[in-house]
Amino acid sequence: MPNMMKAALCYGPMDVRIVEQPKPLLGEGEVLARVKLCMTSGTTVKQYARGYPGWTYPFGWGYEWAGIIEEVGQGVSTSLIGKKVIPSYYRGDCKCWFCKHGQPNLCANMRLPRAEELKIQKPRNLEGEGAFREYVKLRADRIQILPESLSLEDAASVPTVAVVVHGNYNVDINPNDTVLIIGAGGIGQLHGLISKLRGAQTIIIDRNQERLDSAKKNGAADWILNAGTTEEAKSKLKELNINEGWGPDVVIEAIGQPSTWEEAIELVRRGGQVLEYGGCKEGTTITVDTYRLHYDEIKIVSSTTLSPIDVTIGYDLVLKGLIRPSIFISGYYPLEDIKTALDNTMNQKGLRYAVVP
Ligand SMILES: [Zn+2]
Repeated sequence: MPNMMKAALCYGPMDVRIVEQPKPLLGEGEVLARVKLCMTSGTTVKQYARGYPGWTYPFGWGYEWAGIIEEVGQGVSTSLIGKKVIPSYYRGDCKCWFCKHGQPNLCANMRLPRAEELKIQKPRNLEGEGAFREYVKLRADRIQILPESLSLEDAASVPTVAVVVHGNYNVDINPNDTVLIIGAGGIGQLHGLISKLRGAQTIIIDRNQERLDSAKKNGAADWILNAGTTEEAKSKLKELNINEGWGPDVVIEAIGQPSTWEEAIELVRRGGQVLEYGGCKEGTTITVDTYRLHYDEIKIVSSTTLSPIDVTIGYDLVLKGLIRPSIFISGYYPLEDIKTALDNTMNQKGLRYAVVP
């Protein structure tokens, strides 16, 4: 059956199945890409474990991928066939109030609806979407053609680099600042690498020694601290005597738990900045010591998604080899073994895996 392809679909929490699907048919102005690899990540694993607001089962998913153009539709130059490609990631409309006021990452048309709003909205069926599949159809004006020199592994993670760039640039980082990152996963390590490119020294805290060791090996952390509680983190930080013992200038939370959001505020120095980067589950809250916030003049910021400029910066960092996301790949699995790749990522065995359809 030459017109069929394999795809991984999620049929329920942690229920992934390989199915046969018709290969997408191309319309005018479209291209067909053969997916060469698609990455697992914290986000894909969350979606695997508990679905996603507004999505119905079964859904296809996987967004960090790279491939080769195999076919082009009417009106698209055949010179694109054989080229390495990633999709364009920015999905805003460029015309709503936020887009027009310089905050395109907050585009009204990209906003994730709350659970209450979803009750009255039609859920989306993404059975034919995502890139944990052999072929993906794209609009020719929504692709990024890659130079031959750039590896598919590095190119696939440009969106993740761009989202981290967006968050990292939300805090002021100056040369000789000390940035503490909570969480030694791929995202925490990217924050470490980008903070270092901005001139900072970095500390990464986690309770998973294997991840901490990889953060050190990858050059994301100058110091690594294995700490399971805020008290433990405080006492280990004291030993480092950062800023005469006052603590780090910037703390970045890269996990997405209310407890570590609170920890970030506790660990930053007086007058320091906190970036609450990891998205927490809807409905959760944190408690902030108002005395500390006011008298220690703590700045707290968050960040969400990305703007076109972040994609440009992220792509340039990867193209120039200043960031090599391929160092985070802990292994490769064929599409048939996607469950192992997802389970390993979820259980923090390694960092992330490349699924090869
Ligand atoms: Zn907009």
